[in-house]
Amino acid sequence: MGKSSIFIKNIRYLVTVDGTRRIIEDGAVAIEDSKIVAVGKSDQLKKDYGSTDIVIDGSNKVATPGLINCHVHTPYYVVRGLADNLTLPTWLSEIVIPAQNSLSDGEAYVSSLATLIESLKYGVTTVVDTGEGKIERVPDAAENVGIRIVVGKSVHDVPTVRHLKDTVELHAKTEQCAKAAENFYRKHHGRANGRVNIWFCPSHERAVSDELLRECKERADKHGVGLESHVSASITSVLRHNELFGLPAIKRFKKAGALGPNLLIVHSNWLSDDEIELIRSHDVKVCHCPSSATAGGFGTFSKGKFVEMMEQGVTVALGSDNCAHSNFLDMLRVAYLAGAHRDVRADPSLLPPEELLEMLTLNGAKATLMADKIGSIEKGKKADIVLFDVNRFDWRPLHSPVSNLIFSTTGHSVDTVIVDGNIVVEKGRATTVDEEEILSKVEEVAEDLPARIGLKRSSIGKWPIE
Ligand SMILES: [Zn+2]
Repeated sequence: MGKSSIFIKNIRYLVTVDGTRRIIEDGAVAIEDSKIVAVGKSDQLKKDYGSTDIVIDGSNKVATPGLINCHVHTPYYVVRGLADNLTLPTWLSEIVIPAQNSLSDGEAYVSSLATLIESLKYGVTTVVDTGEGKIERVPDAAENVGIRIVVGKSVHDVPTVRHLKDTVELHAKTEQCAKAAENFYRKHHGRANGRVNIWFCPSHERAVSDELLRECKERADKHGVGLESHVSASITSVLRHNELFGLPAIKRFKKAGALGPNLLIVHSNWLSDDEIELIRSHDVKVCHCPSSATAGGFGTFSKGKFVEMMEQGVTVALGSDNCAHSNFLDMLRVAYLAGAHRDVRADPSLLPPEELLEMLTLNGAKATLMADKIGSIEKGKKADIVLFDVNRFDWRPLHSPVSNLIFSTTGHSVDTVIVDGNIVVEKGRATTVDEEEILSKVEEVAEDLPARIGLKRSSIGKWPIE
């Protein structure tokens, strides 16, 4: 039996992000099963769809396509607030890796669930989890919460990251890595009506051999999926990569045959012009993570050439990165922050809100290889739709819905979220899980997490807690 049909009527502004970027006043969307079957003016669609099973009143709502977060690590949720103000190596070796290693599988599952629930409640309908930490149950979490996900098993075969004392087991032999990633793909790809997509993740550029890069690319090509890797996040990453391999990351990826339209590189704050030309000519996609970079002091605004890449036609999408580094998952805040490139270049015409919304939707859809399925509200696409409540001060006056969306409000104004034709958030609350139960489980995990990694409660943050 098919799912219920949904008709959303009287939408104050329907921001389609379609081919002509129509914004429809008093708009409507009709959904059957998982797909959008009609988009238009409410009056015109009412006669065909007015008696649909579920009718949602879109008065005082702005509708947008579901937002896409192209980089997160879902199991890191419970580390939020424990690892601020640290350099990347210390952040990893002293806090994040020990904390991850201390989690049971059940605790890691709760942590992933919490990341995904928070994301959905902010209107994020698709996330990419680059698969570090305990990710075995991430596909279960995504299926149960109702979000669309891309996830892969992060693989490393070069024990290069000298500070990762506790992660020897992550640095397996090349063939073990390839096999583990392949098994993960076979086990989960296509689950939940295709909401679960498994990729290959040679996740840190300086921790994968040429051979493993090649293996990942070949397998991703064979299965028609993508691969994601962190590349040149900080000057430390760049220097370490060059010291180990004798050339910059993108040039080595080229040598290993790993460049192509199905490669998504994350951070990419320190790319040279030569590397950018290689990315452009191979249609490699880029995920800019401004909030994580700000937290880590990566140099994203002073060194990152995202504006220039976009001017040259490179697809640049946005990611929050994880809760231990961003620390928020609200993609509207991420998009707002990306606008800081204006300040660095003293040019307020750069990255207008419309372009930032494209980065959150269309560019994310291209980066996740789902441009034919998601990223806009159009007939034939998947029904991944967000309704924002605009009966609030941060949405008024409503001269420009896209400006208010990106420059004024936050994810807290999300009212309803639909993913794959299912209503997963209603009146700002998740419908698929018991939020209170998950919150109390998060508290349980968090209670002794600092002690497990040798942190005294009194040493968390700069000010004493009495
Ligand atoms: Zn990351």
